Amino acid sequence: MSNCPLCKKQHSPENARILLKKKDTHLVHIICPHCTNAVLAVMVVSGMGLSSVGMVTDLSREDVLRLQTVASISEDELLDLHEMLKNNKLNYI
Ligand SMILES: [Zn+2]
Repeated sequence: MSNCPLCKKQHSPENARILLKKKDTHLVHIICPHCTNAVLAVMVVSGMGLSSVGMVTDLSREDVLRLQTVASISEDELLDLHEMLKNNKLNYI
């Protein structure tokens, strides 16, 4: 598992929920058990291994799920988000 970008402690797997799964790309919402901050992460499994970028979010799991229902995210958009997060060098997790 990854570390929390805020308190640097390790996330525990039971606090992570996969919100969206498209082929090799996963959108994961993690609530840190130590500082209770939420992180939204995009994980891409490729031939190179697992790459993941995340950002601290105010969105609760319910919010994310609601947004997702309103505008369903396509695989391309997920990858765009991943690239965007990567290029902006936001908090890597
Ligand atoms: Zn934390």
